[in-house]
Amino acid sequence: SDGVGLAAPQIGRNDRIVVIDSNAVAEHFPECADRKFTLINPEVEVLDGETITRDEGCLSLPDLSEAVPRIEHIRLKWVDENFEPHEEEITGFLARIVQHECDHLEGKMYIDHISPIRKQLIKGKLNRIVTGKTRCDYPVRYAPKK
Ligand SMILES: [Zn+2]
Repeated sequence: SDGVGLAAPQIGRNDRIVVIDSNAVAEHFPECADRKFTLINPEVEVLDGETITRDEGCLSLPDLSEAVPRIEHIRLKWVDENFEPHEEEITGFLARIVQHECDHLEGKMYIDHISPIRKQLIKGKLNRIVTGKTRCDYPVRYAPKK
C-alpha cells in the first residue's frame, strides 16, 4: 500500500510497536526523507503547543481523509528493533505521522480528533468501511460487529 506507517493494533496485535517508512512523502516534506524506523514502546512529549491542520488518512479507514490538527514539534523516545534506546526532536509532517501511529497504540484514530459535526457528516462513509463495502488495493479484514 502507499501508507507511511503501521501500528501493531491495526493488524490485530496488542503490542506497542509502530513501523514508519516516510520516504514516499519526502518530495513534499523533506523531514520525511529516508526515515524508516521501528518504534517499540514509543513515548511522545509535546514540545510546544502550535498545531497545524492537514488532511490525514489511514490504512484502517480506506478511501477517507479528514483535516486533523496536530502538534508540530514533539520529542519522541523509543526503543528500536535491536532494543537500542533513542530520543529525538521531531517536527513537521514526520511529527504528524508519529502522533497518528502512536494514537493507534492508545486505541485512537485520527477521526477522534475531528469535530462531532464533521464525524456525523462522514457517518455514511464510516458505516461503509465498518460493513466492508469500501474497496481498497490491500488486504483488509473487517471486524464483525459485537
Ligand atoms: Zn492509521
